[in-house]
Amino acid sequence: MASLPWNNELAAALTERKAAGRYRCPRIRTGQQGVNIIIDGRDMVSFCSNDYLGLAANSEISQAFIAAAEHEGVGSGAAHLLTGHSRFHQELELAIAEFTGQQRALLFSTGYMANLAVIDGLLDRGDTVIQDKLNHASLLDGGRISAAEQQRYLHADMTALERRLAASDSARKLIVSDGVFSMDGDIAPLPEMMDLAKQYQAGVFIDDAHGFGVLGEQGQGTITHYQLEHKPILMATFGKAFGTAGAFVAADEEVIETLIQQARSYIYTTAQPAAVAAATLTSLKLVQQQSWRREKLASLIKQFRAGAQQLGLDLMPSNTPIQPIVIGDDKQAVALGQTLEQQGLLVGVIRPPTVPAGTARLRITLSASHSEQQVNQLLSALDVAHVH
Ligand SMILES: *Cc1c(COP(=O)(O)O)cnc(C)c1O
Repeated sequence: MASLPWNNELAAALTERKAAGRYRCPRIRTGQQGVNIIIDGRDMVSFCSNDYLGLAANSEISQAFIAAAEHEGVGSGAAHLLTGHSRFHQELELAIAEFTGQQRALLFSTGYMANLAVIDGLLDRGDTVIQDKLNHASLLDGGRISAAEQQRYLHADMTALERRLAASDSARKLIVSDGVFSMDGDIAPLPEMMDLAKQYQAGVFIDDAHGFGVLGEQGQGTITHYQLEHKPILMATFGKAFGTAGAFVAADEEVIETLIQQARSYIYTTAQPAAVAAATLTSLKLVQQQSWRREKLASLIKQFRAGAQQLGLDLMPSNTPIQPIVIGDDKQAVALGQTLEQQGLLVGVIRPPTVPAGTARLRITLSASHSEQQVNQLLSALDVAHVH
């Protein structure tokens, strides 16, 4: 028995969580990842993945993965600084640097780890990290493990950010923000943020997990969307629009070299399998070349928003594939999610602490793999469920 002396307290807290409508558990998917999935043995249409371009089960990407795994094996064997860094990792880092227009890129096994690396690896005691309140948990955790002082500003509020910048007497200040906010779908006001950074001599770090692949002419993300001349440090993941796994940080030479020397979540972990990097190289090619995926996605977003507006649904100001509908009450959101599920439609039911209390929501995400008819099906189901 692997019990703790305070097992009873754990049990009580779990019961309380259930009663509050905040209990969560993983469900079993079988078969191919995509829009049409089998969950717990049932055919469902998914509106809750981050597979925005429909690449997660792309066969060309799978073939690249298989070929590399057959050639090199699955295990990478060691950390990057030992023998884990294969030619596929190297090739991908060069390709990403070019694609993002940055001097260098560095791969990480997950986006979570990349975020810890940047905030903990670049800041020290006496420095200040200033974060948007709605930043992803991994960014906030980066701030927690860093010795720097952590401050937060009201979501996307550049006046609030300026107040923080003006009040700080740290020599080194780093502004940190999601590019596209994961639970709201809105895009951070990067041009204003870059101006403030210049004025107050601060650095900027953008987590573009949800913009990368989706925004910008070839999918370069939020920075390209705004055509910023002065680029912030960029982190983006491959597990979302790119359909594979892992992440990178792209920045100037000095930043990347510092991460290699100092970032604990880069140094003390096994390199991601080389086959994943090989698959991501193919993914990068498809993301760049197949702009029809972004066009299809944009048209589905338009269709969903127009339909939802007609139904009087309370949409958020988002033009990205993340289209949340705020319900408010946790249990009501869960009940609505279940109603949709009975009709074979899966949406994310997002509750605190992922979002602020009182803003439980249905997080609907669209993918280039959805059909117009599936979007209409979702709209009718939302109408019947009286989501408004
Ligand atoms: C998914 C996500 C991450 C974490 O990336 P993983 O590769 O899944 O660990 C970080 N930031 C944001 C905004 C994300 O949505």
